[in-house]
Amino acid sequence: MTAIDHNSLLASTQLVIEQALQRLGYGQDMVDLMKEPLRMLTVRIPVRMDDGKVQVFTGFRAQHNDAVGPTKGGVRFHPDVTEEEVKALSIWMSLKCGIADLPYGGGKGGIICDPRRMSFGELERLSRGYVRAISQMVGPNKDIPAPDVMTNSQVMAWMVDEYSHIREFDSPGFITGKPIVLGGSKGRETATAQGVVMMIFEALKVRGIALKDARVIVQGFGNAGSYLSKFMHEAGAKVVGISDVNGALYDPEGLDIPDLIDRRDSFGTVTNLFKNTITNEELLVQPCDILVPAAIENQITEDNAHQIQASIIVEAANGPTTIEATKIVTERGILLVPDVLASAGGVIVSYFEWVQNNQGYYWSEEEVMQKLQQLMTQGFNKVYETHQMKQVDMRLAAYMVGVRKTAEAARYRGWV
Ligand code: NAD
Repeated sequence: MTAIDHNSLLASTQLVIEQALQRLGYGQDMVDLMKEPLRMLTVRIPVRMDDGKVQVFTGFRAQHNDAVGPTKGGVRFHPDVTEEEVKALSIWMSLKCGIADLPYGGGKGGIICDPRRMSFGELERLSRGYVRAISQMVGPNKDIPAPDVMTNSQVMAWMVDEYSHIREFDSPGFITGKPIVLGGSKGRETATAQGVVMMIFEALKVRGIALKDARVIVQGFGNAGSYLSKFMHEAGAKVVGISDVNGALYDPEGLDIPDLIDRRDSFGTVTNLFKNTITNEELLVQPCDILVPAAIENQITEDNAHQIQASIIVEAANGPTTIEATKIVTERGILLVPDVLASAGGVIVSYFEWVQNNQGYYWSEEEVMQKLQQLMTQGFNKVYETHQMKQVDMRLAAYMVGVRKTAEAARYRGWV
């Protein structure tokens, strides 16, 4: 499998941004504005470890563009985080917010660390240290963080507590993805997966495939992958393949998803409990109707795009398909629902959480899901319509829809 190259991830994002802006009739000045974040902060965070020694961690926060409103995006804890990755992810957040028509620009953060090797106390001190380091740059009306890879509601709780201490008043709107008792929204934990499932349903409709017995392969069994496997299983589809970092399981008769979820650990791994597994590479090219990459970047590449047997790919992960592979699968007639559309459920419900924090009045889960459904479907229709009308692939269509609002706002503000 191709190694993750964050430079090329950023470069390919910039390339599609450029193509989208050109298609929309904008000039090079707008491309120059949009292809990099407006602000990028690198911080060094000293943390006292349990053995008494101090370890210094490097963290980042990128704010892509705040022409529309405050920036918004998650913080990931991962050993492979780079500045380029955080930049690319902040641009994708702008696109997601644009597609969902949220009053935000994109932001993103990350810390180079391995939470799997850190104690609870060390993680708390790192989370609080990060907030102290970026506190000048973030805030409920400036830039609003959220969970991402290997961060969760507990990390958000430490972060909101630290921020509230610094500001000397309770500031729930500073961060989303909080526990419900600290002002979290009902439905936030499953929002990304619910949104992906909504997009799978829309894609099935377009392709005229019945949901019942549709065969689904999901790569990644963490927050996004396990919930969406569960929802697809409950909806009557047949989840025939799942995987995690250690390997993959495939059964054409369908897997017992509730049992696998019960046995999964908190880092989304379960395949280590099985003797007979296949590799992630093998899983992606097994027979299925819908393939959902929900793990990491660069999984569908020019090396395997020709072998994929699905007729629909829905990208739950950020950046799982390269530009070259996008071209190949589109030419092969596979309907690709791109990441910036398919995985927008998380930021949409994060937006709902922020709205509820600002108004101090909280909605039922049904209300949240109904509003999510409305924004996701609207997004799908806009992207699919652009894809058909402008005769561009679904990724370029999504970028055109996603970047339009920020570009227009920047022009009204007189920035370009
Ligand atoms: P997670 O950390 O909960 O789970 C990741 C899963 O991927 C785990 O099962 C892990 O074992 C597996 N994995 C890791 N490396 C792998 C590899 N090399 N090959 C195969 N599998 C591997 O993360 P998550 O929150 O589920 O996020 C997954 C993807 O979805 C990421 O790209 C993330 O950016 C994206 N996403 C998540 C959310 C969200 O709200 N959780 C929102 C938007 C986008």
